[in-house]
Amino acid sequence: MIKIGIIGGSGLDNPDMLKDARLLSVDTPYGAPSSALTVGRIGGVEVAILARHGHGHVIPPSNVNFRANIAALSAHGCTHVLATTAVGSLRMEIAPGHLVIPAQFIDWTRKRACTFYDGNQVVHTPMAEPFCPGLRQLFAATARELGLTCHEDKTVVTIEGPRFSTKAESYMFRQLGADIINMSTVPECVLAREKKIHYAAVAMSTDYDCWHEEEAPVTWEMIKQTMTANADRVVRLFLAVIPKIALAKDVCNS
Ligand SMILES: [Zn+2]
Repeated sequence: MIKIGIIGGSGLDNPDMLKDARLLSVDTPYGAPSSALTVGRIGGVEVAILARHGHGHVIPPSNVNFRANIAALSAHGCTHVLATTAVGSLRMEIAPGHLVIPAQFIDWTRKRACTFYDGNQVVHTPMAEPFCPGLRQLFAATARELGLTCHEDKTVVTIEGPRFSTKAESYMFRQLGADIINMSTVPECVLAREKKIHYAAVAMSTDYDCWHEEEAPVTWEMIKQTMTANADRVVRLFLAVIPKIALAKDVCNS
């Protein structure tokens, strides 16, 4: 049976979009997840929402217990995880307010538990296609139907944070081929793959990072404003895409 996990990032900590919603406290061998699960239904499909930074956005990226979050959704029976993430744009064409469906990541994190296989067990998880191709396609097609501007096949670089990039770093990430930048996709995506969960992310562009000389350097206040409008778009996208995931018998084979 299909069950959808949603990991709400900044701006989507507690979206009000479930029918018959109730809170479910869970624990895992890795500790408590960032929040209780909000479980309910969208279009008849079972959905569980987890707030990546806790309800009220209190957990900074480096302190998110990514293993507990993915373990909690996996133990709850989630077959698919849809993640939202606020990102900075490293490309002119990805304007604030646009949605991006990443296809690749670059890992620039430094101090996170990034695997479930850190005991005496050698497991090398393939990561050539980290995001579920079937989910990516459904996201992109549905965004187009809704008239939302959505960029596909992009690369996200995840940095440790909590500080934003220097200009030198921002230029470097552009040269490395990254299109958007955030602090949360890695190791979340990796851990989901280890649990054999179909995982895809919808990134919400909030600003131009600091490489764009004509824009004022990004501040948290600016980001929050754009984020509110973005959250609306992502909720619309989720409400439309989730029933389709249930209908598409095999989203993909991986
Ligand atoms: Zn898949």
